[in-house]
Amino acid sequence: MTSPTSAADAFLGQDPVPFYVDGQWTTGKHGNTIEVLRPSTGKLLATISSGDADDIDNAVRAARQAFPSWAARSTRDRVVLLHRWADAIEKHQDTLATIESRDIGKPLAEALEFDVLFSAEGIRYFADVADHVDPRELVAVRGIEAEQRFLPRGVCGFIIPWNAPGSLMVWGTAPALAGGNTVVVKAPELAPMSCLFLCKLAEEVGIPAGVINVVPGFGETAGAALAGHPDIDYISFTGSPRTGMQVAIAAAGNFVPSKMELGGKGAAIVMPDVDVAATAEKLSLAVVRNAGQTCCTATRWLVQESIYDEFVDAAINKLTSVHMGADDDPNTVLGALISNGQRKRVEHYLQRGQDTGATALLDGGPTAVQGLEGGFFVSPVLLTGDTTNVCAQEEIFGPVAYVMPFKNDDDAIAIANDSRYGLANSVWSQDLPHARAVAAQLHAGNSWINAHNVFAYGLPYGGIGMSGWGGGVNSVKTYLDYLRPLTIARPL
Ligand code: NAD
Repeated sequence: MTSPTSAADAFLGQDPVPFYVDGQWTTGKHGNTIEVLRPSTGKLLATISSGDADDIDNAVRAARQAFPSWAARSTRDRVVLLHRWADAIEKHQDTLATIESRDIGKPLAEALEFDVLFSAEGIRYFADVADHVDPRELVAVRGIEAEQRFLPRGVCGFIIPWNAPGSLMVWGTAPALAGGNTVVVKAPELAPMSCLFLCKLAEEVGIPAGVINVVPGFGETAGAALAGHPDIDYISFTGSPRTGMQVAIAAAGNFVPSKMELGGKGAAIVMPDVDVAATAEKLSLAVVRNAGQTCCTATRWLVQESIYDEFVDAAINKLTSVHMGADDDPNTVLGALISNGQRKRVEHYLQRGQDTGATALLDGGPTAVQGLEGGFFVSPVLLTGDTTNVCAQEEIFGPVAYVMPFKNDDDAIAIANDSRYGLANSVWSQDLPHARAVAAQLHAGNSWINAHNVFAYGLPYGGIGMSGWGGGVNSVKTYLDYLRPLTIARPL
């Protein structure tokens, strides 16, 4: 039996790794390639075939052709195939986790738990939702016999970022597929490998040709071609607000509805009655999770002034003790950033923030790890300053927290809401009614209590403002977003 590492090596070692359109593995119309680097080492991980507008066009055509028969299958039939896809992910969990952790730089154990096993659970969740939601509802109106049916939309496009590509592909495609849609995924150029491996598993369990198509490629070519394609029926974009705006505008040009899951600048409000050391530890671990490249994580820490100094000391203690290292080092808590470009972006923000008044309480930044000199590492940074500073306002996407003291609830709520983002915040207190009252006043899609980064299937997750629109992910509502209503009525 092949070990997970050698299975991952074999998959990554294809030269080039092809992509999947209409049930065929292809090197694309123009034979272009992209060199994908391993963040922990900065060395070549794989050479992949890269698609462009022609390949996206082929993928959309294949998805269109496959749509009628996939939609006509019974829900139970599709649900069985989705459970088999989840079975295959679980069977090959170590291989997929190895691929994802090498591709993103995140610790292997984190990739296994979140990107692989939690993704398999997500497929099962949406399979069960589809199995239980009645696609037909009688409508009670006087003098008319009426019903509303919920039908698959057709071809759904997905544009995925690099920070959690495997799980984001599943969060998007599982509800769409369960509802009878076919899909075209534009995988991220920096980390496309898990999307391709997921596709291989879907093929192996018998999901028919054309139902799932995955094309990795650059945003300006393949991404733009998918966003502006006239023959898609829906597009789901996960990524930065700047690109999201371009995608939404391109889709609107064809009246294609869009779902936007964008960035964040989450606040954590820490009340004076907490266990200070434990809360500082949890928030420190939240900000180094995935090397700080998590859209919803807590990057602004608002701490009541009576415990501020104690909290800052405890946080610095924790942040300086996290083990920074390679994706496959079992002790690693903080892995490398995705690319040198991302590392430079973080460095640039740190410079701008400090040039305009922020102070570094913990002065980390780009650094080298012994034996991994080519890796894209950044050690944790803790900044402070006023709420208007660029580092308190913009998404940095690195292991950087910005801490500020507050006096009372009104003060904390005002600082937390002083953001154009609206993804996720948290409130930390032993007084739960008080925590709930504050949580309810935060302007975002998610308010968590005594935890940050809370994900569960059935728990709606989405953003407002610059963090997105379109209903979010991971709930029954998400499944319904991939269906179009049809009202049938007859006057009596
Ligand atoms: P990005 O916007 O640069 O790229 C996202 C995707 O869009 C990539 O696949 C890219 O190739 C593609 N793209 C780029 N230009 C395009 C164009 N002109 N037309 C169409 N597609 C194009 O984002 P990123 O740097 O890959 O990811 C990080 C961002 O994603 C952060 O802002 C993060 O907060 C956000 N994010 C949000 C969520 C969420 O659930 N809200 C989850 C993960 C990441």
